[in-house]
Formats: sequence, C-alpha cells, structure tokens
Amino acid sequence: MTNSKFGKNTICTHVGEVEDTQFKGAISPIYMSTSYAYEDVEVKRYPRYFNTPNQEMLDKKIAALEGTEAGMIFGSGMAAVSTALLAFLNAGDHIVLQKTLYGGTFNLVEEEFSKMGIEYTFTDGLAREDFEKAIQANTKVLYIETPSNPLMTITDMQMIAEVAKSKGIVTMIDNTFASPVNQNPAQYGIDIILHSATKYMGGHSDILAGAVAASNAHMEQIWHKAKNLGGSLSDFSVWMLERSLKTLVLRVKQQNKNAKKLAKWLDKKEEIQAVYYPGLKSHPDYELAKSQMSGFGGMLSFELSEELDTAAFLKELKLIKPSMSLAGVESTILSPTQTSHALLSAEERKHQGINDGLLRFSVGIEDKEDLIADLEQALEKVVKDSLNFSI
Ligand code: PLP
Repeated sequence: MTNSKFGKNTICTHVGEVEDTQFKGAISPIYMSTSYAYEDVEVKRYPRYFNTPNQEMLDKKIAALEGTEAGMIFGSGMAAVSTALLAFLNAGDHIVLQKTLYGGTFNLVEEEFSKMGIEYTFTDGLAREDFEKAIQANTKVLYIETPSNPLMTITDMQMIAEVAKSKGIVTMIDNTFASPVNQNPAQYGIDIILHSATKYMGGHSDILAGAVAASNAHMEQIWHKAKNLGGSLSDFSVWMLERSLKTLVLRVKQQNKNAKKLAKWLDKKEEIQAVYYPGLKSHPDYELAKSQMSGFGGMLSFELSEELDTAAFLKELKLIKPSMSLAGVESTILSPTQTSHALLSAEERKHQGINDGLLRFSVGIEDKEDLIADLEQALEKVVKDSLNFSI
C-alpha cells in the first residue's frame, strides 16, 4: 500500500508493506537475497543500490510519514547525514550549519570537510541575521537541527527555507529529536529531512539505521552518492524497522505526554537549577516550538543545583537507566560531557552552553508516577549526602 493521504497511524500500520502474495501472511516477508536475476526484469536489484523489495517498500513509509515524494533508508543516521551532505557539496563549495548540532555531525564537518576542500561556517546563533551573515557566494547548503541536542533550542524552519530559497541554497534538517510524529519540515519548505532511525523510528534500542525524506529530484542526487559510499542497511534490519514503525505514533505520543509532565515536575523542584524543554512556557522558544511542532517531544535536559553530585544522582536511579543513545521505549539519561559531546573540547562545550552538570533525559513510555518516584528518591539521597558532607 502506498497512499500517503492516510493519517499517520494508518501510514505506520499499512503503508510500505511487502505483500505476501505466496502465502497471504499478515506481515511483510523478508527478502534477504544479495543476488537477483538481471535478465527479463524491470529493476536491477542489489542491496547497495538501495532497491531490494524490503528497502523499496520501507522508503514509501518514510516518504508518507514526512509528506515527501521519496524516502531512503541507510545503515546509520551518520550514513544518511554524510551521504546527503556529500551529495550536495563538492570541493570549493561552502555550507552554513547552526552552531548547536549533534556531536557526530559536528565532528564529521570539523574532521573531514577541510580535507575535501569544503568550506564551512557555524552560525553564532539561531536568528535570521546569524544565517544571513554566514552565507557566502559559494554557499550550497544550509543545515539545521531542531529541537537541538542537548539544550532543545528551536530553529525557525520557515525562516530558514525563506533565507535559502531566495539564494538557490538547498536546506537540510536533522529531524531526529522531533520524529515525523511531532514535526514535518517539508511543510515549511525544508528540502531534505534526515533521521537517525536508531532513535524514535526504531524506538526499541535494537536497530542502528538512518532515513532521508526529500523530493524525487533531490533523492536521485542522494542515491547517486549513496551507491558509491555504500551505507545501506541489511534487509533484516529494514524489516525490523518496518515492524517498529508500526507503533511509532503510539510510542511518541506517550513520550510527549510523559516528558511534558516530567519537565513541569522538575521545573518546580528547588534542587533543579534549570530545565530545558520546548513545551515549558518558560522556554525562550516556546511560542516558536508551538507554531511548528504538533507535540513537544520526549527529550528534555536539566541541571542539578551546583552543590549536588550529578554522578551520584545517576548511580541512585533505579528505573531510569544511565545509558548512551536515546528515544527507546525505556527512559534513559546521560551526561553529554561524558558521552555525546565528549569529543568536543571543554571550550567548545562551554561555547555551546553545555555545562558538566547537564543531564539529558530521554523519556520513555513507562507510567509517569514511577518515573517521578525514581527521580524523587535519587534526589532525596543526593540532597541527604550533600547535607552530611557540609556538616
Ligand atoms: N542525529 C542525532 C540528533 C543523533 O542524536 C544521532 C545519534 O545519536 C545521529 C544523528 C547519528 O545517528 P546514528 O548514531 O544512528 O548514526
């Protein structure tokens, strides 16, 4: 089924299934072949050409979810990001990127682009002037991430599309944190939408994958680079991802609800120094987030008061697991300084507003009362310890 006019739950459940014509089973069969007949067939299939039956059908689900003409699945989020960027950038070209980005994307640009002769500028801020000021005559791509990792800043997608369109610049967004449930950047004129499908799309912390959504013309350009770089996903994981996507909307809506409740709860605690969640009225980008997102997402960050021991707090948590990655059905928490942003210099982290005491919280689908109880007991313990220490 390919109709993208359905609601998102119907898209998740039905669009992009491989029909089991032989046995009429309820779910997609998996085609694991790496060798397909080339005679008397319309399409020459090969996994690294991104056109096996499972790959092709899942592409349709991605496109339908993002409201674009085409979709593509990759072996990781970074395979999707790097392939899309290199499809539109050559030696002598320039790219403008917002300053707050996923650490891996920042490293890709910093460590690889100069060697390839690609020029780049990170903006000072997220306002129109910051992007306009950074654009040069050879700028080919404008790259954003909203909400951003880990401070949940929001970038105005319509503004970005306007700034770029007038100059013929291609726009790209990392839409991982919002997921296609909360935000569809194509509606605002963004050209290329990227996902670490390892996160909300997979949702169970058991698949490493990436996804891209774009027009047919842009995807054609990405495909030509992709077959050379070779970042395809195995058909077994493609099948797992299709299965996981069936519950995407249900999961993300529950995560939105839980995150909002927890952000409000944390915001009232005097032991918490700061809470970063775009769904809080106190968030500086609340109005912008409300205007371009249909849900505020399951990600938030917070900082304990300075006198409390952040590492001890993480150790005290029983239900919420200190762990890498994010967006699984289970709640997880991490220190960006020790993990996602560890490769940045201390100076760069400071420049981006990432303090050592910052904790990034990926809210799961558990009962909110249980999550609150876990945070409460861990806070009580570290407060008690800090009192003992100061006596
Ligand atoms: N973009 C964001 C916002 C991420 O959080 C990540 C991974 O953490 C990536 C991209 C890269 O994705 P992957 O780890 O699937 O390569």
